[in-house]
Amino acid sequence: MDSCIFCKIVRGEFDTEFLYEDEYVVAFKDIHPQKPVHILVIPKEHVKEFSQLKKDEVLSSVRKAIQLLISENDLQENGYRIEVNGGGSQLVDHLHFHLMGPMEKPIV
Ligand code: 5GP
Ligand code: ZN
Repeated sequence: MDSCIFCKIVRGEFDTEFLYEDEYVVAFKDIHPQKPVHILVIPKEHVKEFSQLKKDEVLSSVRKAIQLLISENDLQENGYRIEVNGGGSQLVDHLHFHLMGPMEKPIV
């Protein structure tokens, strides 16, 4: 999609560093991090939001990317959150999975 900011990132128009890349997805740092680690994992193909995602291959790649990034950023030990906004609550209309951490752990 020509005007989509995340499609432009996928095409390399901003020289964004990819922390993960395979046939279906790329991952890169969020420009306004809410946590010390805040990474976005997005499909290379333009999909507006989660409810419109059709390809299982994309989800499989998202799983691989997020699991690797959890490990590389020590988030298994320190806590993480995966967030997907949709239904109009998202700012960017190109599906993206937020991976954030570390997270505070509940006191039990
Ligand atoms: P949403 O609210 O749509 O779930 O989140 C969109 C996210 O994309 C926000 O956290 C925002 O900081 C991030 N973002 C928006 N534009 C850009 C950009 O051009 N580059 C990067 N790396 N992140 C962006
Ligand atoms: Zn797009």
